Amino acid sequence: SEVLHLQGVTKTYGKDTTSPVPVLRGIDLAVGRGEVVALVAPSGAGKSTLLHIAGLLDTPDAGQVVLNGRDMTGLSDKVRTEARRAELGFVYQFHHLLPEFSAAENIVLPQLATGVSQREAAERAADLLGRVGLSHRADHRPAELSGGEQQRVAFCRALANSPALLLADEPTGNLDPATSDRVFDVLMSLVRETGLAALIATHNLELAERMDRVIRLSVD
Ligand code: ADP
Ligand code: ADP
Repeated sequence: SEVLHLQGVTKTYGKDTTSPVPVLRGIDLAVGRGEVVALVAPSGAGKSTLLHIAGLLDTPDAGQVVLNGRDMTGLSDKVRTEARRAELGFVYQFHHLLPEFSAAENIVLPQLATGVSQREAAERAADLLGRVGLSHRADHRPAELSGGEQQRVAFCRALANSPALLLADEPTGNLDPATSDRVFDVLMSLVRETGLAALIATHNLELAERMDRVIRLSVD
């Protein structure tokens, strides 16, 4: 079954100006349960716009965003925010961890926001950190971790609330090639073990080829 389905998604910036910028024209894209899809796009093709729309942070001018069978277009900001918290996980090129909190705390906090008990949240954080090989770093703050370790913690945080879909924008793009490769392997095992669906934007064609399917956006 489909976790994400974009149907005819269209987006133009500056519609009411003399120089509108059409970015997405009738994008159709589906990500199934447990499927890992690469999004490959040259700079300026609309990759960030597409991820923002799929992540319910922006709305298309036309077309539908269907998440777990539910059409999210036209729903209130409140409902979309709730769906974002419950069903989506995000990873970016930079980790965006809270600097004053430890690795474990960074994974615990988003869970507490959904009403999970402190104990359950701590157990989940410990389990996730174990899966990415960072049990020994649980009490370290982000600044005490290497770039690859910071990204692995960011993956754990994205999965803290057991989302149905992971949206990632160049998740290893800030790392040197060797680290990027290793950290990408960790991300793939984590995604596979949890049966998560994922849409992962990357410029790295070798990484893209290791996913289940590649979707290309072009600039025209
Ligand atoms: P990518 O992530 O593929 O580089 P983006 O989705 O960020 O592409 O942007 C696609 C195009 O839309 C680019 O030409 C960009 O300049 C333009 N664009 C992005 N955001 C805006 C905006 N808020 N207003 C006007 N143009 C924008
Ligand atoms: P990498 O080889 O991945 O680039 P670094 O050279 O930055 O990593 O760090 C190597 C190891 O030292 C990592 O395990 C990292 O967690 C640890 N480390 C780096 N800086 C600190 C620090 N300020 N305090 C504690 N541990 C640190």
